[in-house]
Amino acid sequence: MPTGRFAPSPSGPLHLGNLRTAMVAWLCARSDHSRFIVRIEDLDPITSRREHEVTQLADLAALGLDWDGPVVRQSQRAGEHQAVLQDLARRDLTYPCFCSRREVREATVAPHGIPGSYPGTCRSLSADEAAHRVHAGTPAAWRLRSEGEAVTIIDRWRGAVTQRVDDIVLRRNDGVAAYHLAVVVDDDDQQVAEVVRGDDLLAATSSQALLLDLLARPRPQWAHVPLVRGSDGERLAKRHGAVTLADLDAEGIGVGRVRSRLAASLGLAGPDEIVTMAQLLGRFDPGQMPPDAAPLPFGLNGHR
Ligand code: GLU
Repeated sequence: MPTGRFAPSPSGPLHLGNLRTAMVAWLCARSDHSRFIVRIEDLDPITSRREHEVTQLADLAALGLDWDGPVVRQSQRAGEHQAVLQDLARRDLTYPCFCSRREVREATVAPHGIPGSYPGTCRSLSADEAAHRVHAGTPAAWRLRSEGEAVTIIDRWRGAVTQRVDDIVLRRNDGVAAYHLAVVVDDDDQQVAEVVRGDDLLAATSSQALLLDLLARPRPQWAHVPLVRGSDGERLAKRHGAVTLADLDAEGIGVGRVRSRLAASLGLAGPDEIVTMAQLLGRFDPGQMPPDAAPLPFGLNGHR
């Protein structure tokens, strides 16, 4: 059965931007009579906390979003991730990378580098050199061996988007499956037909599409939601003030008002109109890209 999803990382409470994206993901799935699942992307052992998962699920429910079936945690799927990594390694589609984050960052500020893309430092290391580094105790991440080709994906609202692919990390140097690998494998295994998520991930989507093609798994439909920005134009974050349901509640703004403001930012309600998710479902047009939410239009950012 076609399925939509919301896949938060439990590294902190959800903020208004995450909640708005979750709302759109739910509306897209439910307007299509799809299943809707929540997957907890808890692969990072350092930043993932069970208490954040609990709060995130409670906040989604408080907003009026429901989901089908049990919540799956990515950390329960290490075996599946490992099997896919081994398959790619056997086909020589991966290579070890010994670069530190800092080295990657510094190399990509080189004049012709695409910001954030991997400059290919370790792509052509010989097997001997790689073995020598492993022996010397340098931990290796594993990257996808791409050709840097341009790959076109289809976004529900933006249509065809073509981007150069990158040698994305598939396994981190602490041995944990990396986000890009886990997300495509889990979405496919969970029969996710449409991936609705923040548009900060649009840049990585061509690389994820290439990975799916190499794995002979179907590409989902993608739909990237404009991120909420703070009054300074930057993507919303804690420093913008009261941005979580708990913060807002402490300021006397209940979840019903937050739902109204989020719905208003999507053009689905008047600013203070009290609405239910069922009402919003009747008003939502999945063919129309959600409007930009910049700067924060909720009137909740210190300018009530
Ligand atoms: N877990 C990611 C995040 O919270 C989202 C991944 C995705 O939707 O593909 O940013």
